[in-house]
Amino acid sequence: AKSGGRGTFRFFEPTMDEAVRRRQMLKAGLRSALKRGELSLHFQPLVDLRNGRVTCLETLLRWRHPLYGPVSPAEFIPLAEESGMIIRLGEWILRNACRAATCWPDTVNVAVNLSAVQFRDPGLLRALSETLCVTALRPGRLELEITESTLLQDDPANIATLDALRALGVRIALDDFGTGFSSLGYLLRIRFDKIKIDRSFIAGLPGRVESKAIVSAVVGMGHSLGLSVTAEGVETAEQLEALRQLGCTDAQGYLFSPPVPAAEVAALLWQPCSG
Ligand code: C2E
Ligand code: CA
Ligand code: CA
Ligand code: CA
Repeated sequence: AKSGGRGTFRFFEPTMDEAVRRRQMLKAGLRSALKRGELSLHFQPLVDLRNGRVTCLETLLRWRHPLYGPVSPAEFIPLAEESGMIIRLGEWILRNACRAATCWPDTVNVAVNLSAVQFRDPGLLRALSETLCVTALRPGRLELEITESTLLQDDPANIATLDALRALGVRIALDDFGTGFSSLGYLLRIRFDKIKIDRSFIAGLPGRVESKAIVSAVVGMGHSLGLSVTAEGVETAEQLEALRQLGCTDAQGYLFSPPVPAAEVAALLWQPCSG
C-alpha cells in the first residue's frame, strides 16, 4: 500500500496540523451552523433536594457538525469567542432559551451561560432587554450564569455591568465557584442570587475531607448571605447523601438527569427528580 494522496493514511495520532485544521474548520463552520440548523439547545434540571422539584433548567448549547459529529461547547465556545461569533450566537441562545421557558410553569426558571466576551459587550444590556420584551418572559425567571474566571479579568466595569443586569430584574449566578480566587471580594460588593459550587469539589465527596470541608463552608457562607447554593455535577447517591448531610439544598447532575432536548423537558417537570 502506498499513500494515495492527502489524508489517505491516518494511522498516526492527530498531529499539530490536524488540530490546527480542525480549529479552522470549526471556526468557519460556526458561521453557517446557525443557518443550517446544526445548533440546538439542551436543558438540564436544577433540583430542590427538600422536595425533589425542578427549580430551574440550565441551557446548554449543542452542535452537531456535518463531518465531526457532536462537538463539545468546551471546544467551540472559545472559538466563537475568538471570532466574535459568540455575540450573535449568544443572542440566539438567549432568545430561544427564554422562548422555551415561556412554555414551562412560572415557578421554573431558565439559566443561560454568559461568556466573558458577551459580558463585556456594550450591546449586552440592550439585547437582553429586547429579548425579555419580545419573549415576554418575566425577568426574574431568567438566571445569567457568570463564571468566576469572567470576573477574574479584573475590570472596574464589571461591577457596573453586574449592577445594570440586576437592574433589569434578572438573577445572577456565580458559576464554577471555587475555581478562581477573587470572588470573595465580589460577594461583598455584588448581590448574587446563586452560587454554583464547581463539580471538582463535588467529585471528592463523600471520601475527601478537604472537599467536605470546602463544600460545607461554601454552603454555610452562601446561606448566611441569603444566596441559593447549587452543587454541580452530582453523579452518585453517595455524593447526594453527603451533600444533604452538609446542609446543601440544591443540586444538579447526571444523577437527576443529563441535559435533554426541549421536547423532553415536560416529562422532567411532571414527576419529581428524586435522584
Ligand atoms: P458549565 O456551565 O459548567 O456547564 C456544566 C457542564 O457539566 C455541562 O457540560 C454539563 O453537561 C456537564 N454536566 C452536567 N452534569 C454533570 C455530571 O453529573 N457530571 C459531569 N461530569 N458533567 C456534568 P457541557 O454541556 O459540555 O458544557 C461545557 C461548558 O461549555 C459549560 O460549562 C459552559 O461553560 C460552556 N457552555 C455550554 N453551553 C453554553 C452556552 O450556551 N453559552 C456559553 N457561553 N457557554 C456554554
Ligand atoms: Ca453553567
Ligand atoms: Ca458550572
Ligand atoms: Ca464548568
